[in-house]
Amino acid sequence: MQVRVKPMGMLRQRLGSSEQRLEVPEGTTLEQLLQQLGLPKGSVQVVMVNGEREHNWTRALQDQDEITLLAPVAGGNALADSSSLTLAEMQTIIRRLYYAKDRQRGLQGCFLWFLEEVGELAAAIRKGDAWAIASELSDVLAWLATLANVAEVDLAEVFYQKYGQRCPGCYQQPCICPGEAKP
Ligand SMILES: [Zn+2]
Repeated sequence: MQVRVKPMGMLRQRLGSSEQRLEVPEGTTLEQLLQQLGLPKGSVQVVMVNGEREHNWTRALQDQDEITLLAPVAGGNALADSSSLTLAEMQTIIRRLYYAKDRQRGLQGCFLWFLEEVGELAAAIRKGDAWAIASELSDVLAWLATLANVAEVDLAEVFYQKYGQRCPGCYQQPCICPGEAKP
């Protein structure tokens, strides 16, 4: 039978792809799948099967199952400091904290919360309150990560594709789009 494996964050580099189809024997368990991929159990923090969190490593997989693998962030639950935090890890942190709730709330519900945070950021900027601006920026980013999680978008990947090398409007670095143009 065939399953689809979607590694996220650091596990992508490790497996060398963002998604792969894998031929596995009938009745293969999650544990055996990780073995087949050459991943020690400790290198995977969260496993999701068809979008649902799975805690049972001996669960037998079905044909066409989609398995999402999330790496632990910096080897544990908490980062020692912010200096090495990547965008992918930021998205993983938010996923680990809120994904179950976010998924239930759905993309539209999450988007309303995102807008609410944008409104709070606007208020903080209007007041000129530096601490509130920093705090609200963080909330806006967290809700943006939530939207990406619920929409199954890898923010680091799409951001890099779009902005990683040059301006998507004029293809220059730095941007030379005319002043009125959006980029
Ligand atoms: Zn430009």
